[in-house]
Amino acid sequence: MGEAITKPVAVVTGGAGFIGSHLVDVLVERGFAVRVVDDLSGGHRSNLAHHPSDAVTVIEKDIRTLEPGDAAFAGARYVFHLAGIGDIVPSIEKPTQYMDVNVQGTVRVLECARAAGVDKLVYAASSSCYGLAATPTREDHPIQPMYPYALSKYQGEQAVMHWHKVYGLPVNAICIFNAYGPRVRTTGVYGAVFGVFLRQKLAGKPFTVVGDGTQTRDFIYVRDVAEAFVAAALTPISGERFNVGAGAPQSINRLVEILGGEVVYVPKRPGEPDITHADIAKITTQLGWKPTVPFEQGVANMLADIERWRDAPLWEPASIAKATQTWFRYMGEA
Ligand code: UDP
Repeated sequence: MGEAITKPVAVVTGGAGFIGSHLVDVLVERGFAVRVVDDLSGGHRSNLAHHPSDAVTVIEKDIRTLEPGDAAFAGARYVFHLAGIGDIVPSIEKPTQYMDVNVQGTVRVLECARAAGVDKLVYAASSSCYGLAATPTREDHPIQPMYPYALSKYQGEQAVMHWHKVYGLPVNAICIFNAYGPRVRTTGVYGAVFGVFLRQKLAGKPFTVVGDGTQTRDFIYVRDVAEAFVAAALTPISGERFNVGAGAPQSINRLVEILGGEVVYVPKRPGEPDITHADIAKITTQLGWKPTVPFEQGVANMLADIERWRDAPLWEPASIAKATQTWFRYMGEA
């Protein structure tokens, strides 16, 4: 790898993806040599194209093929494990694949980190583990995954904590609420409100507001999420989960107001929370991290970059109804 010998090495699995690529940006700025392990199934090389090759090395690899001693992890000080597969509907349709990548893949990354003797592994956990939660939601809230994606991310986190307990591997988990910002993923799969709305805005079509739009989400700007990962790596604290949200939920109606445009309403989805709200007292007090980008500013940054969504799928009520059929079928009684 063409990295300068004096720089500390950080491995970022999933580093070509949305949150991963912003984390790479922060690590490069902080003087790390970064190795990205990514199979490019969800991420894109273009997310990293602004970095010179001596700062960031991209290793195209599926985490399920990793073995202890893999060259990507040689001499690494930190591992940030963000590789995985997301989205609710495909997880209901293909649970085996989700458990395979998000759980077994995590075990392989843990074994590589253990063999390399890293100072810290930081895992990207999901707030979906809390299910329909009491708010504001603390880290010790009961766990209740509502669909296979949530289960797989939680079991991956349990593996991370198990490696801490059994093998003494230093670890932390960053439990991400709704991350948004430039480069947010737009796969062909329906979901993630920002990709849906920005494409609709570009096309001059109405925003497909779910329910009455009064539901709120604890949207957190991606750069702030990236900073939380770095804080969780550099702290001497280990074996902990830290919630990362803005601690200030925003309604979908407020998002529509900022974006500006017509709306059309689509049915509320079964099992989806009316409110998500992270209690962020733990990370602010223990790691000194806090959100820095106000919602209006974060949305403005995305609007400045809106051309990126020109090729994203354009959703409308009929195609949403079709794409969410499985969701309504399996979660209707939730
Ligand atoms: N949402 C919406 N219209 C859409 C997609 C999503 O109003 O076309 C809303 C959805 O009801 C939720 C919020 O946006 O309140 C975030 O949805 P997303 O799927 O991005 O995340 P999650 O529901 O997993 O928090």
